[in-house]
Amino acid sequence: MMKISTKLTLYFTITVFILEVFILFFLHESIVNSRIREEVNSIQSRGESHHDVLEDHYSRQTLEHIALMESKTDTTVVVTDNQMEPIIASDRILPEMEQIIDKTSLNSSFYPNSRILEDNYRKNDYIATVSSFHSDSQAGYIYMFKNTGSLRALISELNSHFLIAGVLSLILMVFIHFILSKLLTRPLVKMKTATEKISNGVFNVRLPRAGNDELGQLSSAIQKLSDDLETIKAERAEFLANISHELRTPLTYVQGYTTVARREGIAEQERTKYLQIIEEETETIVKLVENLFELAKLDENTFTISKESFELCPFLNRLYSKVNPAFLNKKMRLHVKCDTNRIIHADPIRLEQILLNLLDNARKYSLEETTVTLTAIPDSKNVTFTLVDEGFGIDQTSLPNIFNRLYRVEKSRTRELGGSGLGLSIVKELVEAHKGEITVRSTSGKGTTVQIHIPIKENAT
Ligand code: ADP
Repeated sequence: MMKISTKLTLYFTITVFILEVFILFFLHESIVNSRIREEVNSIQSRGESHHDVLEDHYSRQTLEHIALMESKTDTTVVVTDNQMEPIIASDRILPEMEQIIDKTSLNSSFYPNSRILEDNYRKNDYIATVSSFHSDSQAGYIYMFKNTGSLRALISELNSHFLIAGVLSLILMVFIHFILSKLLTRPLVKMKTATEKISNGVFNVRLPRAGNDELGQLSSAIQKLSDDLETIKAERAEFLANISHELRTPLTYVQGYTTVARREGIAEQERTKYLQIIEEETETIVKLVENLFELAKLDENTFTISKESFELCPFLNRLYSKVNPAFLNKKMRLHVKCDTNRIIHADPIRLEQILLNLLDNARKYSLEETTVTLTAIPDSKNVTFTLVDEGFGIDQTSLPNIFNRLYRVEKSRTRELGGSGLGLSIVKELVEAHKGEITVRSTSGKGTTVQIHIPIKENAT
């Protein structure tokens, strides 16, 4: 597997290298071309000045003067007549030069001005210009030649400079890109290690703050994930400990009373009493296990809300018939108020479960001769259920905890009443699964008000 930092180094370097080659190439070309142009221009202007002199004073002496002058320089002048036959030359005429002169003779039209004959320094040993002259006694051509050897040497020196610059900058580039990629990928590598730890069950990873860019956001997302997992782990351990505790109490009763009930020679009445206690405790255990199962389903998200449309008031009336006997039994009054009937879209089984749980609490945590009122008020989008009791109420310090699993305000009393502390946490999850909200207000000794908002539209989100 190729490391991401290696990949980045490679991509950066290749891109910048291609760019550099282009730039160096054009720079090189323009330097060389301007140098050649300078050389050509210089021999051309020298040729032109010879032309001026010859047109004014054509004589053997002038010719020799010109030849002598050029023999001291690295250029060669050749003056020919109309037929391209040399009259005088500052140096020996080499075959290369003859070739160039011959080439001109092929189209030996009259050259009004001077012109460049040869400027291809790569192919030819000479660059050359020509200009024609007309004096009274003689007409002809002045050829100027310059050997390209020194130019080539210059250019090859330039080439080696460019090569050194290119190689050095390539090495520097690889180095810089390598460091940059390392800087860029270091947080990524840390995050990779962190997620590996998390998947191995080590949740207390610490990632350094990595700024506010995408990498920083990813890093804090991973940090949050690990923190959340750690909390969940701790909560799970605590929950399991609580559950074992909750189960142990009734099981101890069952165990104890079974031993007592089996004793020989105890009165039948006693035995019935013990068996009754055993039955009650077993019921508590069954209820606890049922609730736990319900919560497990909620946690796993395997449970689904299956919504359907039904009428609100008849639904509440059926609920009333179902729970009212229990209220009458405790000499309590239950009122269900549903003034505006409406078709609502919700899961009737879950909604009933929510309300049954709340009504059950209102009944359990109230004294006799008190009233419980359930009001349902639908608007265009939601239905609001308000359940008011005149019971014991919940003190302000306990109020924030009542939705926690296994939380009970008064352990001993609620146990007597068969509470397990799971009811409200199930209610809350069911309400949230409906995308609804639940709020509880309570005054100790006066009573409790529970309010639920649930969306009732077909495609409410
Ligand atoms: P439980 O199964 O014990 O009733 P819940 O989760 O339903 O568990 O409720 C948690 C605790 O909140 C209860 O133990 C009780 O102390 C308190 N509580 C719930 N509803 C009421 C109420 N209507 N009036 C007073 N206390 C309540």
